[in-house]
Amino acid sequence: MKINEIFKSIQGETSYAGLPCAFIRVTGCNLRCSYCDTTYAYDEGNEMSLSTILECIARFKTKIVCVTGGEPLSNNDTPFLLEALLNKNYTVLVETNGSYDIRTIPQKAIKIMDIKCPDSNMSHLMNWQNIDYLAKLDEVKFVLSSRNDYDWTKAVIQKYNLPKIARVLVGTAFGKISPKTVVQWILEDNLDVRFQLQLHKYIWEPQTRGV
Ligand code: SF4
Repeated sequence: MKINEIFKSIQGETSYAGLPCAFIRVTGCNLRCSYCDTTYAYDEGNEMSLSTILECIARFKTKIVCVTGGEPLSNNDTPFLLEALLNKNYTVLVETNGSYDIRTIPQKAIKIMDIKCPDSNMSHLMNWQNIDYLAKLDEVKFVLSSRNDYDWTKAVIQKYNLPKIARVLVGTAFGKISPKTVVQWILEDNLDVRFQLQLHKYIWEPQTRGV
């Protein structure tokens, strides 16, 4: 598989934020979000065998492994990687952009699925059928850049009754909108979501790679 980077850090987002985690960043992405902070993962990377990837991960001695990108499902071998990690008894998180059919992800892996807001310029490429395939421990993530994104998010949450289906995360595109403003809107509307910041961007410089 073509892998962009493998590293150990803390999980910066999701309900697992703050926990030690090994990351496997798969090369390739079919989307081009306006706020993308991992453009280096579109093409850069090296071919690695499954056994080499597993050896790298084992050295980190973490309980959690997050497979991210780019977009992990843009690589047809990712489901095999996920199975192999589950067989090693890791808690496996898969960050996916919501445009691919998530049924290729093994059931025991926890899906962290983006629902792309309008300002990402990619919301028209969402695979809405995926909402039917989410499980209770899965998480859906909205990244907001504007009030328009917030209103759209609220409407989507209500339309699909998302909090009944999965955990709902709302965050901001770094530098595009004030987290404080979004939190105020959430509280005013009593929105049943978890607000999140990208922890790693506050601990390290926002552009730092491999953290
Ligand atoms: S899906 Fe993720 S990696 Fe792909 S363009 Fe969007 S933000 Fe970047």
